[in-house]
Amino acid sequence: MTAILSQSSLQDYVECARRFELRYLKRIAYPAIESEPALENEKHQQEGEYFHRLVQRYLIGIPKEQLDRLVNSDNLQRWWENFLANPDFRGFKDLRNLHPEATLSAPLGNYRLLAKYDLIAIQNNRALIYDWKTYRKRPRNEWLSARMQTRVYRALLVRAGAHLNNGKPFEPEQIEMIYWFAEFPNESARFTYTQDQYKRDSDLLAKLADEIQSASSHPPTDDRTKCNYCPYRSYCDRGVRAGDASQAEAEMEAEELFDVNFEQIGEIAF
Ligand code: SF4
Repeated sequence: MTAILSQSSLQDYVECARRFELRYLKRIAYPAIESEPALENEKHQQEGEYFHRLVQRYLIGIPKEQLDRLVNSDNLQRWWENFLANPDFRGFKDLRNLHPEATLSAPLGNYRLLAKYDLIAIQNNRALIYDWKTYRKRPRNEWLSARMQTRVYRALLVRAGAHLNNGKPFEPEQIEMIYWFAEFPNESARFTYTQDQYKRDSDLLAKLADEIQSASSHPPTDDRTKCNYCPYRSYCDRGVRAGDASQAEAEMEAEELFDVNFEQIGEIAF
């Protein structure tokens, strides 16, 4: 079986090879939740997952009135109202041009690179990649721009999206990635794409796949700030949760690290 790499596993790898090893090679699910903030994080994650399902159903044509009945928390209610009120999404009239929960994959070295998109919308000869985020803080664009998700999703759409473009691969310039924040509905982050960026991303992805293939050890990161919200701290003797929530990015990372549902832990098989 060909092993699979995703934006999540690659993000883990670039942040900490040890985390990559624990999560994807040793397949250790994150340790049991021990504290109240962690329970809150988990509840928030579940609500985020429900929100994704609501939107996906809406985009395949299930009537809003039917979906309204599934909204069962204050957070969900707010996010759902924000979504429905957003002028960009009210413009989604022709569902045939919308591809919610699209999964694309392409070879990457000895692996397959796989991504599940919240939505790919084809509009005016352009491909818009939408990703819904339920973060409690709006991250900086610079942080988002550097994330593996932003790089993988756009590059993979160039490589594997021809079936969405009448059989012709998309040019990078046709592609834009849009993060829409359910808590900050008017502050989307948009990232266009160029041939140069595609080349840069392709080189990076090839390099990472080679490194992962040939790695003989998986050392813990030297950057201990990466450990603050890492669920594997107890495996690495990196202490209890640090009080570093003032940084937006630290919060974002906490949300991503606790999220084991959207992309399964077992996605990489050796
Ligand atoms: S606690 Fe730190 S060193 Fe250990 S896996 Fe997590 S990020 Fe890596």
